[in-house]
Amino acid sequence: MIVSPQKYLFIITTVVVLLLAAGIITLVARQSVEQPPSRLTIATTIFPLADIARNIAGEDVYVIQLLPPGASPHSYNLSPQQLTDINNAKVLFVIGHKLDAWAADAITRATEVPIVTVDEGIKLREFEAEDEHHEGEEGDEHEETGTDPHYWLTIPNGQQIATTIAQTLQEIDPINSEVYASNLIAYTEELATVEKELQLQARSAKHTEFIAVHNAWSYLAQQYGFELAAAYEPVAGKEPSISDIQRLQKLVSEHNIGAFYNEPAEHSIGATRFFQDNLGLSVKTLDDIGGIPPRDTYINLMRENIRALSE
Ligand SMILES: [Zn+2]
Repeated sequence: MIVSPQKYLFIITTVVVLLLAAGIITLVARQSVEQPPSRLTIATTIFPLADIARNIAGEDVYVIQLLPPGASPHSYNLSPQQLTDINNAKVLFVIGHKLDAWAADAITRATEVPIVTVDEGIKLREFEAEDEHHEGEEGDEHEETGTDPHYWLTIPNGQQIATTIAQTLQEIDPINSEVYASNLIAYTEELATVEKELQLQARSAKHTEFIAVHNAWSYLAQQYGFELAAAYEPVAGKEPSISDIQRLQKLVSEHNIGAFYNEPAEHSIGATRFFQDNLGLSVKTLDDIGGIPPRDTYINLMRENIRALSE
């Protein structure tokens, strides 16, 4: 085939135009996925922190939540993509006390992102002594000794967390200081109303003692007048031994236990069978993490938990 010089030029021009068009389309597509560089990005580990941060930060701040809905904070690993994404963040808020070390450790090694533990002003609790006989067992990825990290599960502590987040945002983004201050005031009022509602509801509870999958509930129990009689798992994610099972059996026969509470992030089929089929307890749901409807805000998470315990 003979191609005339004019036709040759036409083909070249067409190819160049097509390549340019493809380039522009790629560029536009990429821009719509990436965050605009001007938008402030902050990061959090678990859903309750992300939701509280969104309430304080408002719509103009992009909030990363590292732990996916339904995953356990006691056994999670960051993906390489998450480690890349977090480089855009000005700060990472963590619970600390080993709960979200999977995030804090990896991010400290791989990035320069500053980390803020949100426990300021919060009275931390130690795990109770009755669990101490598990000390020294092999494979102890232990949370049952030392500080109990589940402190976000009372409204007053949620309030303290909100205050810490507001103060940090004011430091890293002083231009919008007043926005964060007024968001904190509004959220504080909402939390105070919810706390009254929860205290009232908790007073109507038929039972105070309960059993849950893992030892996450001492802050909530103390604040709202309940008692975690026992946890099914001696350590989060670990099945009980035969002597643990015998101890649980004895406890259920001697105490007035309201129900066994399964937990979405630490779901245990073995525990459900044991308490429901063998011991005749009713099985309900408690959730320490949330992020799944109807526990789709921190406040709704707290409401659902107190409602489940009070029924
Ligand atoms: Zn936990």
